[in-house]
Amino acid sequence: MSDATSPLLPPARIALIGLGNMGAPMALQLVKTDYQVCGFDISPDARQRFSSMGGGVASEVASAVAGADAIITLLPDSKAVRQALDSFIQSVKADCVIIDMSSSDPVETRKLGQELIGKGFGFIDAPVSGGVRRAVDGTLTIMVGGSSATIDRAEPVLQAMGKSIFRTGDLGSGHAMKALNNYVSAAGLLAAVEAVAIGKQFGLDPLLMTDVLNVSTGRNNTTEAKLKQFIISETYNAGFPLKLMAKDVGIANSLAHAIDVPAPLSDACSKLWTDASNALGNSADHTAIGKHIAGLNSQKGD
Ligand code: NAD
Repeated sequence: MSDATSPLLPPARIALIGLGNMGAPMALQLVKTDYQVCGFDISPDARQRFSSMGGGVASEVASAVAGADAIITLLPDSKAVRQALDSFIQSVKADCVIIDMSSSDPVETRKLGQELIGKGFGFIDAPVSGGVRRAVDGTLTIMVGGSSATIDRAEPVLQAMGKSIFRTGDLGSGHAMKALNNYVSAAGLLAAVEAVAIGKQFGLDPLLMTDVLNVSTGRNNTTEAKLKQFIISETYNAGFPLKLMAKDVGIANSLAHAIDVPAPLSDACSKLWTDASNALGNSADHTAIGKHIAGLNSQKGD
């Protein structure tokens, strides 16, 4: 079907490992584009869900990856990616391209890449932004790091899932870009929430504050799309888990430390997100950090 240099066009065989909130809809986009897709997840429930959506699944990871031209991982973090790869790498065919689309740690990605590329596999990082909604309609933003030749091969596969594809540089640069984007978003959210808490205590109306911010230089994604909708309204259901935001902010912060870049704001931001994640638990939405910050404020008055 394809050789080691030709682009992976449909009906190339793709294994997608990790059929969770992002992986399942992204796999369905590949099915829609006429790739031959076989999904796998360690959770039988996730496999069953994907199967009921019309996707093909294997009950063993080795069967899912056998003969695949490309393998996509959409897993919680670098540790899970490493574990999954260890469990199936001996079943992967020689010219396969492995694409880690999880939000992983760029330093770990570079280490893993040295091993995989050393064994002759293609390996690129291609994390996404846009969330579940844009995974469902195939319009994700994808940040891709790795060798141009391997990205050229994988590009048609990425195009089936994304609308904007950015080549960010060497292996790991996509993962670095993703973590840094989410750091900027997370820091902006904290600044907005903190400003509203201060303003409210002083007697300002949070809704009026949001209106002013949105036509002033303080405007950001949180003031526009989250403050009124999910935080002031106390619905806390924007759809992106707090634990994933805390992980991404932590990755950006540990990258700064790994390469000796002073990052005092990132240090403080990472601590707040980690504390909120520990306090609010695995099921909390990231906008619930508004509740956590308000809680800190009321504790102070106790
Ligand atoms: P999820 O928890 O819904 O799905 C992860 C899946 O991986 C689960 O079904 C789990 O059973 C499976 N899994 C874990 N270890 C495995 C292994 N060793 N082998 C096979 N399957 C395994 O998470 P998600 O929301 O789909 O996120 C996946 C990745 O995408 C994460 O890195 C996340 O940070 C990133 N991401 C998520 C969003 C979002 O809005 N949810 C947006 C952008 C990026």
